[in-house]
Amino acid sequence: MPILKEHHEALRNKVRDFAEQEIAPVAAELDEKEIFSVDLSKKMGELGLFGITLPEKYGGAALDTLSYIIAVEELARVDSSQAGIVASHNSLGISPIAVFGSEAQKDKYLPGLTTGKKLWAFGLTEPTAGSDSQGTKTTAVLEDGEWVINGKKMFISNASTPISAGITVQAVTDEKDGRKELSTILVDQHTTGFTVEKIHNKMMWRAIDTAKLSFDNCRVPEANLLGDPGMGSKIMLKTLDGGRLSIAAMGLGLAQGAFEAAMAYAKKREQFGRPISKFQAIGFKLADMDMKIELARNTLYRACWLKDQGKPFGREAAIAKLYCSEIAKEVADESLQIHGGYGLIKGTAIERFYRDQRLLQIGEGTSEILRMVISRKLGL
Ligand SMILES: Cc1cc2nc3c(=O)[nH]c(=O)nc-3n(C[C@H](O)[C@H](O)[C@H](O)COP(=O)(O)OP(=O)(O)OC[C@H]3O[C@@H](n4cnc5c(N)ncnc54)[C@H](O)[C@@H]3O)c2cc1C
Repeated sequence: MPILKEHHEALRNKVRDFAEQEIAPVAAELDEKEIFSVDLSKKMGELGLFGITLPEKYGGAALDTLSYIIAVEELARVDSSQAGIVASHNSLGISPIAVFGSEAQKDKYLPGLTTGKKLWAFGLTEPTAGSDSQGTKTTAVLEDGEWVINGKKMFISNASTPISAGITVQAVTDEKDGRKELSTILVDQHTTGFTVEKIHNKMMWRAIDTAKLSFDNCRVPEANLLGDPGMGSKIMLKTLDGGRLSIAAMGLGLAQGAFEAAMAYAKKREQFGRPISKFQAIGFKLADMDMKIELARNTLYRACWLKDQGKPFGREAAIAKLYCSEIAKEVADESLQIHGGYGLIKGTAIERFYRDQRLLQIGEGTSEILRMVISRKLGL
């Protein structure tokens, strides 16, 4: 079993202090007004949270997966939007370039992406291809040494902020006998023919940017292909295995934050002449929350440990994502119940947690798809 080392605890304390001092005071307002904060991203970059597992030569912090996951967990304990920015950028933005990029691509893109001044997105989902990631319709045709890209992407994180630097897109590069050749291509932000449109009025994750993208005869150099032609599915699926760990960390951190809010409220709120924490019905709810969080943390940290040991971790990442996102829902719901009517009022942390947890059972593999992934690992 993984054992937390001193440097993990030091990082936890550092990120916790940052989240409490810098994010907590502004989280409700950013959520209410749907503001992506350039300032907070810059500060999270200065803290070393972008490219946290990358080698130092790219400006990374060269830490292990467990460190990264603890950082996301601590951000999500306070605010899912800022945690989502870090998780999407590291797991979906940086990771495919770091793992599958050529030396030239890594040298060109990675140093800028570790600063907090540039974000990179990941475009798999399309209006008609969500869970079915092979349903991609976006095409990329090689013409005069350039890929000509046409198509649309939907729900893409970090893609339309003032500091968005580009995106890795999955596109069909060939089709024979009904079989698609899927490849991944790097597209810089201001390339002609590439347009972004911010999606407004999300119920959750309101301070993280989500966008619709269009590619209309967008031309990028042939050298922007990531990996070989036809490697698209492999790159995307491997990226999602890692991404599931960070979504799980968001569930765990959110559950921890909701639990702490419930504990504090239950000790303070008095009814029938005593704190409501003294009623067994409330104490049992808190005990169940504590148990679920403990199990979620052990499950997630073990998956990280397997990854850090270079062992297969796909099954464990799927279980961690499914379990952490589902207990986040249960813990947030019970925490809100403990807050009574006050938990339903906008501006309270628990009201925001209750909304924010909902994405976790949908993004990067819905709970239904995660159960399919796990059952396939069982050979079913
Ligand atoms: C805020 C936000 C951020 C996101 N960020 C990104 C991003 O950065 N990059 C990116 O590429 N995508 C991103 N996504 C997209 C996200 O990954 C998809 O929403 C998700 O994969 C589900 O796709 P869908 O919404 O099209 O739902 P659908 O696939 O249409 O699913 C609808 C329902 O049908 C169920 N279903 C589908 N197929 C099956 C099946 N075979 N068996 C049983 N049930 C099934 C699903 O579980 C779900 O309940 C983001 C989404 C949101 C909301």
